[in-house]
Amino acid sequence: SIVVTGATGSLGRFVIEGLLEKVPAEQITAVARSREKAAGFAARGVRVAIADYNDPESFDGLFTAGDKVLLISGNEFDKGRVGQHKIVLDAASAAGIALFAYTSAPGALTAALADDHRDTEAAILESGLPYVFLRNGWYNENYTERLAPVLQSSTVTQAAGDGRIASAARADYAAAAVAVLTGEGHENKTYELSGDTAWGFAEFAAELGKQTGREIAYKSVSAEAFSEILTDHAGLPAPLAATLTGVELAIEKGELAGTGGDLGRLIGRPTTPIADSIALALKD
Ligand code: NDP
Repeated sequence: SIVVTGATGSLGRFVIEGLLEKVPAEQITAVARSREKAAGFAARGVRVAIADYNDPESFDGLFTAGDKVLLISGNEFDKGRVGQHKIVLDAASAAGIALFAYTSAPGALTAALADDHRDTEAAILESGLPYVFLRNGWYNENYTERLAPVLQSSTVTQAAGDGRIASAARADYAAAAVAVLTGEGHENKTYELSGDTAWGFAEFAAELGKQTGREIAYKSVSAEAFSEILTDHAGLPAPLAATLTGVELAIEKGELAGTGGDLGRLIGRPTTPIADSIALALKD
């Protein structure tokens, strides 16, 4: 069976859709926390398993020898994601699965956000399981899903200077995961996944202005000011704000700008340009 955790998340949904196009539904297992959220999958014949990264017992007997597993990294930053991921890894190890794929972070990313991913990769290597590291670059949607404040102020506010980002659509990264889970010869490979072209926030602002017929500026603020905006205006907890500000500095240093082409090669088509994701977001 092909088993996908985080299946009811934004990326996971695309992965299940992609798998359904390639393999019979009964060969797919969607791991979810909520049976209700996964009801649409079950209705289409996908096996649904209920488990939580915080509950080792919920993974007892979930995996079978020979399974190909995709662990989609969790999003509970305050709960120790490495420990959560190890719970899934231990259960997969005990079952003797055939392939353990993990959605990681770019190898060049030094920001604290990448620490959990590096530690999870290390635990996977230590397990001795056949693995695939899908080192996902940034999603286009990180910048297109919350356009309301940007449009309201006619300003793109970041702290990334002239740094560039080789982002791609979530659907592109999902297609890469599907290629790895349904293809051959990916054992023990590390893929640096990113968009075909890198863009900067000045271009992003210009493109958004072009598509909305308005004047939209890019304002690069200091790390301190950016962090303050996240805590005081967006209401984020200080540790998360610090982590996200760390990402801005990494972008400025070019750590998310790599365009090695692994993603396009895996999916066999160009990646989705940021302009296309902007257009899609404005249509909604
Ligand atoms: P989502 O937040 O949409 O999905 C996260 C998934 O993880 C959900 O399915 C969620 O389950 C599941 N999950 C979280 N905690 C647990 C838990 N304790 N037990 C079981 N499942 C859990 O994120 P995306 O799908 O967009 O992205 C996938 C991952 O990629 C993120 O979790 C994050 O690690 C990373 N990411 C990467 C970004 C990038 O730009 N490369 C940007 C943002 C995130 P449920 O559906 O029940 O909530």
